[in-house]
Amino acid sequence: MTLSAQEWKAKSEALAFRHDAFIHGAFRPARSGERFDSLNPATGALLASVASCGEEDIDDAVTSARSAFDDGLWSRSGVAFRQGVLKKLSGLILDHVEEFSLLDSLDMGKPVRETSSIDVPGSAALFSWYAEAIDKISDEIAPSDPGNLALVTREPLGVVGAVVPWNYPLEMAAWKLAPALAAGNSVVLKPAEQSPLSVLFLAELAVEAGMPPGVLNVVPGYGETAGKALGLHHDVDCLTFTGSTDVGKMFLRYAGESNMKQVWLECGGKSPNIVFADADLDEAAEKTCFGIFYNQGEVCSANARLLVEASIKDEFLTKVVAVAQKYQPGDPLDPACGMGAMVSHEHLERVMSFVDDARKDATLVIGGERALVESGGAFLTPTIFDHVDPQSRLATEEVFGPVLAVTAFHDEAEALAIANGTRYGLAASVWTNDLSRAHRVAGRLRAGTVSVNTVDALSFQTPFGGFGLSGYGRDLSLHALEKYVGLKTTWISYNDDE
Ligand code: NAD
Repeated sequence: MTLSAQEWKAKSEALAFRHDAFIHGAFRPARSGERFDSLNPATGALLASVASCGEEDIDDAVTSARSAFDDGLWSRSGVAFRQGVLKKLSGLILDHVEEFSLLDSLDMGKPVRETSSIDVPGSAALFSWYAEAIDKISDEIAPSDPGNLALVTREPLGVVGAVVPWNYPLEMAAWKLAPALAAGNSVVLKPAEQSPLSVLFLAELAVEAGMPPGVLNVVPGYGETAGKALGLHHDVDCLTFTGSTDVGKMFLRYAGESNMKQVWLECGGKSPNIVFADADLDEAAEKTCFGIFYNQGEVCSANARLLVEASIKDEFLTKVVAVAQKYQPGDPLDPACGMGAMVSHEHLERVMSFVDDARKDATLVIGGERALVESGGAFLTPTIFDHVDPQSRLATEEVFGPVLAVTAFHDEAEALAIANGTRYGLAASVWTNDLSRAHRVAGRLRAGTVSVNTVDALSFQTPFGGFGLSGYGRDLSLHALEKYVGLKTTWISYNDDE
C-alpha cells in the first residue's frame, strides 16, 4: 500500500467509528447509557464517544455467549464450518485493511505504515492460520484392556473472557480470538479503553463472515468496571488476559473469588539484550534500536535493557545513538514516520517519571524530551541512559516507552546474572558469533523467547509468553489451542468375547 500522508488523512476524515457494544450480533449502547471518550493521542482530538459497559452489559454478553455455546451452531459444528467462517473473516479484514490500519493508528498513535503492513495483515493471517490448523489435529485413543475403548478428546471450554491491552489493539485481540474461536468457544472480548475501535469493527465483520450471533461479543469499558465484572463472572469458564502484571494478579484473585475459572496471563517484561564484543555490531545496533523504539517502545517484549561488553561499550553506543536518530517522532499518518505518539498523555507522564528519576543516577545520552508539543499529541523522543545501575528503578520496572537502559558487563557470568536479575521472564536477546556461547547463554536465560543475533523473534508457529511475573500459558502456535480446550476421557466398555 503506497498512500501518501494526505491520502491517509483524507481517508481518516471519512472513517466511520463503531462506538456501541456488540452483543448477540448487534450494536447497542451500555444499559447505563454511559460513554467514554476515545481520543487520538497524536492530536488530542475526540474520535468517538464509546459505550462504557458495566456489570449488566457484561452479564448480557456472557448470557449471549453461553446461549450461543449451548445451541451448538458453532461449538458443535464440523471443523469445515468454523474454518470457512474464520477464513472469510480473514479475507474481510484484508478487504478493509485501510480502515483497520487507520482505526488502530488513530486510536493509539502508532504509525499507519506499521498497522497497514504488520498489525492488520498479521491479524488477518492469524485467523486463517488457526482455521487451517484445526483439521490437522487428531484426538487420542489411550491404551486400554480388551473390551474397553478410552477416548481422549479436546472439548471447547465454553465461554472465554478475553481482556486485552492497547499496544496492538487488533493484533493482541486476534492472538486470543483466533485460537479460542477456532477451538469452538464463544468469546466475550473487552478491549482496552484506550483502543476499542478496531475490534468493534472486527465483531461486525465476524457476523458478516457467518459467525452465529453471540459467538463473539465485544464489551468496551473501563478495566475496573467491565474488566472486573468479566473476571468475577460466574459463567465465564476461562479468562485469557494480556496486560500488566498488576492487573494479571487481579484476575487470579477474581477467579478465586468467583468460580475458579481458568486464567491465562500474558504480562509485562523487562527484556535484556546482551551484546558480546565478537558480535556483528552494526547489525546489533540496528536491531537494538528496533527492539526498544519500535511501536514507541510500547511492546511487552521490548529489549529495554542493553547489556554490553565493557570493552566495546563506547564504540557500540555510538552506533546505537546514530541509528536511534531514525526513530524521531512524527505524524503517525505520514508513511515516512517511524515513531508515532505514546498512547496517551497520562502514559507519557508515567514514562517521563522514569526519565526524571533516571536523570538523578544514570547518564542521559540522548532524548528524554517531549516532542511536537504544538500538535497536542503525546510524543517523546527516543531516549538512552548509560551507566544504569541494574538495581535501579529504570532497570527493574517496566517503562513501556522508548527508553533504553545501558549497563556494561565484563564477562559471561556477569551478563547472565544481570540479565536474569529481574522477576520478569518474557524475552531476551544475545549477540555473539561464538556458537557455543550462544547456546550456553540462551540455555541459561530465563525467558519465554530467546533471540540469538536478532531481537523479538516471533512467528505464528512458535509459542509466545513468559516466566515469572511475565505470566504463563502461551499465545500463538498450536500450543495456544491447549488453553481453550479441556481434555475429556470417554470410556466405552463393550463385549469383546463373541
Ligand atoms: P493494563 O494491565 O493496564 O490493561 C490491560 C487490560 O486490562 C485493559 O483492557 C484494561 O482495561 C484491563 N484492566 C485494567 N485494570 C483492570 C482491573 N482492575 N480489572 C480488570 N481489568 C482491568 O495494561 P495496558 O496498559 O493496557 O497494556 C500494557 C501492559 O500490557 C504492559 O505491562 C505490557 O507488558 C503488557 N503486554 C503484555 C503482552 C504479552 O504478550 N506478554 C503483550 C502486550 C502487552
